[in-house]
Amino acid sequence: MSQLTEVISYSPATGAEVGRYPNTSAATIDELVVRANAASAHWRALGFKGRKAILRSWAHYLSLHINELASIVSQETGKPLSDAALEISIAIEHVSWAARKAGRYLRNSHRAPGLLMANMSAHVEYQPQGVIGIIGPWNYPVFTPMGSIAYALAAGNAVIFKPSEYTPGVGHWLGESFNAIAPEANIFFVATGGPETGAALTKSAVNKIAFTGSSSTGKKIAAICAETLTPVLMECGGTDPAIIDRDVDIDRVASAVLWAAMGNAGQTCVGIERVYVHHEIAQAFSEKISALASELVAGRDYGAATMPKQLAIIDSHIKDAANRGAEFLVGSIDSVQPPFVLPTIMTNVPEDSLAVAEETFGPTLTIRSVTSMGEAIALSNASQYGLAASVWSKKQGKAIASQLHCGMVSVNSVIAFTATPSMPFGGVKQSGSGRVHGPEGLREFIYTRAVVATRFRIPLNFATFKRTAAVDAFIKRLVRLLNR
Ligand code: NAD
Repeated sequence: MSQLTEVISYSPATGAEVGRYPNTSAATIDELVVRANAASAHWRALGFKGRKAILRSWAHYLSLHINELASIVSQETGKPLSDAALEISIAIEHVSWAARKAGRYLRNSHRAPGLLMANMSAHVEYQPQGVIGIIGPWNYPVFTPMGSIAYALAAGNAVIFKPSEYTPGVGHWLGESFNAIAPEANIFFVATGGPETGAALTKSAVNKIAFTGSSSTGKKIAAICAETLTPVLMECGGTDPAIIDRDVDIDRVASAVLWAAMGNAGQTCVGIERVYVHHEIAQAFSEKISALASELVAGRDYGAATMPKQLAIIDSHIKDAANRGAEFLVGSIDSVQPPFVLPTIMTNVPEDSLAVAEETFGPTLTIRSVTSMGEAIALSNASQYGLAASVWSKKQGKAIASQLHCGMVSVNSVIAFTATPSMPFGGVKQSGSGRVHGPEGLREFIYTRAVVATRFRIPLNFATFKRTAAVDAFIKRLVRLLNR
């Protein structure tokens, strides 16, 4: 019975209960939307300065309570405390950046009216959309949703956040922390619950859904939103590649790529899942990264798989690769040992196998030797996903980056864009659409209003049924002149 009214989170490492939170019903969601909508007028009226002050106090409050929040993140996700604290620290940077920069990037933009309309003034206004429904995942339960929450609030919207059912305590804490510092009520609600709560939020009268999670859930949400033409922001999964040229420092690359592949137990949307390495250094690179991976200890360097059902998916990808001729450099067909997955590196894995073509979301990596960077680029781009990539090359890093069909690239680094608040974050293809972070992330939560006003009247009036032949002739002459 309690399952119907509560969502319960458990420690992935021990299975012990961590917390119980309400399973928010569709009726309650509808009520929250009404309240948020009513309160949003006041939030909007505060202007950029007023909201900046409140959001900066929130960032300050969060910075003073990193350890408290990190403890809940660690308990609910199973990740080490230090990883949880790092995630929260980066998220706070985003709150602060969005608060400080919203006024700059969302102020009215003046436009040239053009010669035909020289007697008019023209400007664009950026207006908050209203109430934003934000649906989040569990893997980075603070950093990921904050990319929408902070930017939507800074742009002048009210927010209803539905955290993952695996991390309701983190979501609940975030809501309480905002209410502890914000004098305004009803601006930021947290609605805990499972997929049904997410579906109810999607069907409610919110003005936009900002979703982060798997591509398959993203498609369901987009389908519901299509019925009412509710705009959607989709931050979905990926199978991000690392492209490694022959002129790199192998030790440095191996260490960074290993961390990006296996940190957070491989449960990172922009984590590296496949490596394309120049054949001249493929052997040396494989040996180095395998040696480093063999030193990793599941449960010490990374935690248990947060979502028990993911273990079966990881296992199926490893077994599929093995059945199709993969060779294990590290780990084995038995790498999945609940609640952990041991570090696993495979080579000779076909490109259409599950481990390469689908998101594995575990501490696994495939390595393929390529004859040229052109081949690496083609294989990277062949994916149905296009979230991010890491490129390693002394001479042609940026040139390779410019040919990748994905939303983000780190050159001679890994996932560097996540900690750069001014940079847009998001993917293409089945990795999603729209952007969080940066000016683009702020503009994701506004609509534009074009305002054109008469400055002075001129005799050439063409917006009338009484337009004369002389006016028609003048317009044609002018257009020909302008387009010679
Ligand atoms: P998920 O799709 O299972 O769930 C995400 C959220 O959607 C949860 O809050 C869940 O309750 C909710 N949900 C589930 N079904 C729903 C429905 N029918 N209607 C509305 N809401 C519903 O994803 P997950 O397992 O929580 O997260 C892991 C996935 O998230 C991975 O694919 C990862 O790559 C992706 N991810 C992407 C980014 C990014 O920014 N691109 C960041 C983090 C995670």
